[in-house]
This record gives sequence, structure tokens and C-alpha cells, in this order.
Amino acid sequence: MNPTVDRPGDDARETARQRALRSLNDWWALVGIEPEPLKAPASRRAPPAADPRASTGSVTASAPNPRETTGRSAVTPQAARAAGYARDHGADGPAQDGRAMAAAANDLDGLKAALEAFEGCALKHTARNLVFSRGDPASPVMVIGEGPGRDEDAQGAPFVGRSGQLLDRMLAAIGLDPAQVYVSNVVFWRPPGNRKPTDAEIEACRPFVERHIALAQPKLLVFAGGIAAQSLLRAKAGIMSLRGRWAEYRVSESETIAALPVFHPAFLLRRPAEKAKAWRDMISVQKRLEALDAAR
Ligand code: URA
Repeated sequence: MNPTVDRPGDDARETARQRALRSLNDWWALVGIEPEPLKAPASRRAPPAADPRASTGSVTASAPNPRETTGRSAVTPQAARAAGYARDHGADGPAQDGRAMAAAANDLDGLKAALEAFEGCALKHTARNLVFSRGDPASPVMVIGEGPGRDEDAQGAPFVGRSGQLLDRMLAAIGLDPAQVYVSNVVFWRPPGNRKPTDAEIEACRPFVERHIALAQPKLLVFAGGIAAQSLLRAKAGIMSLRGRWAEYRVSESETIAALPVFHPAFLLRRPAEKAKAWRDMISVQKRLEALDAAR
């Protein structure tokens, strides 16, 4: 008999474990491969009532700290400008300094407000909404993707469309409640027609992405797709060779964060056979998290 099953409180644990296995089953069912049993880490199991695929992109607020964001910034663009974030005056005046604006943000709400006031990325002019983040900023894991699509633009939250549903299932499969993982992109507005963001658009957003990571302070970064991996690791290699290999993302001269490039969920939707590799990568994330937990 499994000695963990009969202890008080273990019913809920068993339910979470079963849910993780079910989620894994669903995932593998897409490619017709029999799943293997999976051990979900206790500290990050999904709450019993939550359907991991039903994530809405809302941001979970907790005790005040730099990583806190309410999802809707308390700091308005007007307030941000009043605090010294000048608008771009085009040919008539000084352009905005994105790096200075990002650096001046002391918390995630401030960073979001700075982005709302920022006019230096052309994507802003064709997008409906700023797409900043979703999930729990206090999560040990931060996922960074390529850029918002149509659904994300409409809802103002990253990874809420089909790709996001697959991402959520991948996270749930390793015992991570998607609502408790922090998710963002390398650009904060939708590239028109879902094209890839250009280098100029990525560079315009880069100071805010870098500040985003520095403020969120995740323990691990997961870069979803080649664009995120190449831009944040400043790598030339393609995702086929980057994926599955842990790298160090440099936060500052003295600080790095372990980062794993993985296939983008949209790619996996087109090429389901690649899910076998994606599964190995997710297990690698799970193992790193367990090692971090054990080291605490
Ligand atoms: N793809 C991404 O890279 N990011 C999103 O937010 C949605 C789809």
C-alpha cells in the first residue's frame, strides 16, 4: 500500500496528483502516446477546485512587494507622465528613453504604467490593448513568449488563446497551477496579423522586459520559442538547437537566472510529434524546481 494515501489531508494531495496525471494523459493523447505516471511537487500543486485549462489571465495579488501587480495598474498613464515619463514629441521634442522609464519603475504596477505611457514601440499604434502579464508574479517560474496574438490583444493578457491553453496543460502536467506561474512576452503589443515582432520592436520593448524579469525575480525562466530565447539569451542559434539546454540569463553583472528555451506552444500545435521533446523539457523544469525546493 502506498503509505501516503491514508494520512489526513492526503485526499486533496491525491486529487491534485490525479489531475496532473489526467492533464498529462490529455497532452499525450494528442500524439497517441501512452503516458507515464508523474510525481507532482507538493508545494505547487493546483488547488482541487481549479481547472488548469480555465485560466483567465488574471493576476493574483498578495502581500505588497515589488513583484505585486493588480493586473490593472493603480498608476495611470497620466500619473506616470506626471511622475516624469515624458511622452514622445516626435520631431518637435525629445524622444522617450525607454531604458530610463523602465529603470525608474520600482514595482510591477509602476512598470506597467511606464509601458502605458511609452510611445517608443510602433506596435502600440495598431494594437487594441497592452498585454503585460498574467499569473502570479511571486511564482518561481516565469514564462516569456514571443508576443500577443489576436486573443491576447482582445483580452489584454498573454497566452489566453489556443497556444495558451496548451501552455497551461504543459504546466499542469508537471504539477504547476497555470494561475500560479508568471507569464509575459518579449513585446507587449500584438504584431499586426500575428507576424513575428521585428528586431526594432523587440529592442524597443527590451528595457521593459529586462526590468520585468528583474522585478519579478523568478527562480527559473522558460523561454517559449526561438524569438524569446534568441533575444533574451542574445543567441544566434535556432530553437532546434537551443531548446532543452539550460542557459544563464544575465540580470546584472552579478546575477543570473537559469533559463530553459522550449518549443513555442503554437509550434507544438502545428507539429504535435515534437511534444515528446517538449515533455522532456517540462520534466527538466520540474526537476530544477524540485532541486531548488530541496536546497531551501
Ligand atoms: N504566443 C505568444 O508568444 N504569446 C502570447 O501571449 C500568445 C501567443
